[in-house]
Amino acid sequence: MTETLLKGFKEFCADAYDSESNVMGKLVEGGQHPEYFIISCIDSRSNPGTIFRPAPGTFMAYKAIGAIVRPYQKGTALAAALQFALHHVNVRKIILLGHTRCGAINALVDNVDDPDIAGFIDVAQTALSKARSECGPTPDREELQHRVEEQLVMLSLKNLETYPSVAPLLEDGSLEIVPWLFELETGTLKKFAPETQTFSPVPGQTEHKHYRRTTARN
Ligand SMILES: [Zn+2]
Repeated sequence: MTETLLKGFKEFCADAYDSESNVMGKLVEGGQHPEYFIISCIDSRSNPGTIFRPAPGTFMAYKAIGAIVRPYQKGTALAAALQFALHHVNVRKIILLGHTRCGAINALVDNVDDPDIAGFIDVAQTALSKARSECGPTPDREELQHRVEEQLVMLSLKNLETYPSVAPLLEDGSLEIVPWLFELETGTLKKFAPETQTFSPVPGQTEHKHYRRTTARN
């Protein structure tokens, strides 16, 4: 049942403990100094541990369905994680990683009748409203979905800036937040520019085949 994971774990250990680089040994002895704190969705296809091919110790991770950052509230998992990362480990770059074809955004657009999911994603209703007003009265479903994906990154960015662990560091210019959107269907990473309110591909990427959904929505 867990063979796939154990096979990967053995390969990881061979590389990280037994190879000449001994990367885990160094991280245990010298402690961690991760460069990034990455907020991402739970989706199995947009896992930063997979898509960025990082070495151990590269980033700290927080996951929430839809990569949704809710407004600050004391005592939440994200508030504690950010406080620890920024003020105890001294991470100075936050990556906010949204993605396309997101199940949470499907659920939001389709007004899913599931209290546990709706109760969390409801905070993103303003992203849906803005996307609807961008798309007009009879929106194409795909276009609406895409607009919500973008609006959700913008909303989460705004919410993130209100966290007490984040705001002062932004103010003194010592913290950078990088809002990215990973397009699953094209293998493209896009960056949101708050100055122009637009998403554009991060420079230096090559083009790949464009895949379209052929089966279930998620
Ligand atoms: Zn997702």
